[in-house]
Amino acid sequence: MDVLNKNISVIGAALSGIAVAGLLKRKGARVFLSESAPQEQKSKEYVLLQNENMEFEFGGHSDRVLNADWVVVSPGVPGDIPILRKLAVLKIPVYSEIEVASRFLRSPIIAITGSNGKTTTTALIGEICRKSGLDTIVAGNIGTPLSDVVETSAENGIAVLEISSFQAERLTTFKPKVGILLNLSPDHMDRYSSVEEYYRAKRKTFEMQDSADYLIYNDDDGNVKNIIAGLGGTKIPFSLNRKSSNGCYLYGGRIMCQLEKEEEVITTDWIGIIGKHNFYNAMAAILAARLIHIPVTTIRRTLHEFRGVDHRLEFVKETRGVRFYNDSKATNVDSTYVALESFTAEKIILIAGGKHKGAPYTPLRELTKQKVKCLVLMGEAAPLIEKDMAGVVPVIRAQSMHEAVQKSFEQAVKGDVILLSPACSSYDMFKNYEDRGNQFKQEIFQLN
Ligand code: ADP
Repeated sequence: MDVLNKNISVIGAALSGIAVAGLLKRKGARVFLSESAPQEQKSKEYVLLQNENMEFEFGGHSDRVLNADWVVVSPGVPGDIPILRKLAVLKIPVYSEIEVASRFLRSPIIAITGSNGKTTTTALIGEICRKSGLDTIVAGNIGTPLSDVVETSAENGIAVLEISSFQAERLTTFKPKVGILLNLSPDHMDRYSSVEEYYRAKRKTFEMQDSADYLIYNDDDGNVKNIIAGLGGTKIPFSLNRKSSNGCYLYGGRIMCQLEKEEEVITTDWIGIIGKHNFYNAMAAILAARLIHIPVTTIRRTLHEFRGVDHRLEFVKETRGVRFYNDSKATNVDSTYVALESFTAEKIILIAGGKHKGAPYTPLRELTKQKVKCLVLMGEAAPLIEKDMAGVVPVIRAQSMHEAVQKSFEQAVKGDVILLSPACSSYDMFKNYEDRGNQFKQEIFQLN
């Protein structure tokens, strides 16, 4: 992509906006970065941009943004702000950070999206690729902007990219060699006007694929099957329920992979991360790895050794026979559902609640009845959850993480599990889900 002496505006001074501005500047473009928040709220970013000698503005998007050959927009920027409308009228192209950065990639792409499990699967595939000796980039929504690392990519290497729906919205030429669609369930209803619009955004990740590319998809998920109809990539399913002649499936506790031939990859009890949902993530990773010819032995070893990503059903500690799990990243109802499903014999004390995202909690009623002995609720959503769970299990309220952990521990006996899996986002009481999970862990380490 030739950007030399091009005028390019970047909207949004967040992590990926700043990264793409830096990349374009290094490539010889004239970059202007525009941020709506006032400078006082973005002091770290302000200093960074000044040090980089970047041209920028804070506190609103002026018409200077329009003086551009094209524009890049950070994923966090809402799609309907006035400056974007003006750009549309002027027919100035607007791209996402991933779209722009990927044009500088030398290696093929494995792109992972879905409502839940993206980070886990991306990290797992990255680990398998690294262990196999491939020159590997892991980037995207997982935390490292692609723009920061794209210049290190090698032609015979691989880029493993986590794509969020926000990042997918403005993709135009993005063409992953291997695409993965893990699952689809309602989320981000605060940004999209309908669930269909959210699913359509996800679909964009795969729209440029052709039959020489692969689309790995969850065959047990009806929403996934609907949305992939008409896509051009060669479709390869994975399923826990059905054997197929082409794909990954479960057979008597073993994960089988059938591409050129049928292979047994691993028994489920040998996989390092717990829960049925992680079998899905494992199957998606197995298919991606086998499609780029990574040997089964490397895949098996990594699946056994991989301990998951922090804040995703992360085992923290056992105290007086009570085991603590931190699933702070469970920010929607579906992810709390799979967390509860992951425990079989134990009784669970579930800490939930936080900022309400719009979906009902009633899908958790049945599992809560079976597995949860007590609900400890906190945050803005506590009364809503209590209402949706009426009559199912005893409920205790907590005003802080300290109180939540103390009260949970009072209820627990040897053999129980205390699980933080909020089904809500964290912004009512915490900086983010990491802060929530870290506070949970701190409180646990203070118990004696
Ligand atoms: P994402 O990046 O899509 O948010 P993560 O890997 O960070 O996904 O996991 C988010 C939450 O979803 C965690 O609580 C995790 O335990 C749960 N989860 C992980 N994989 C799946 C899956 N395949 N289906 C449903 N939930 C999952």
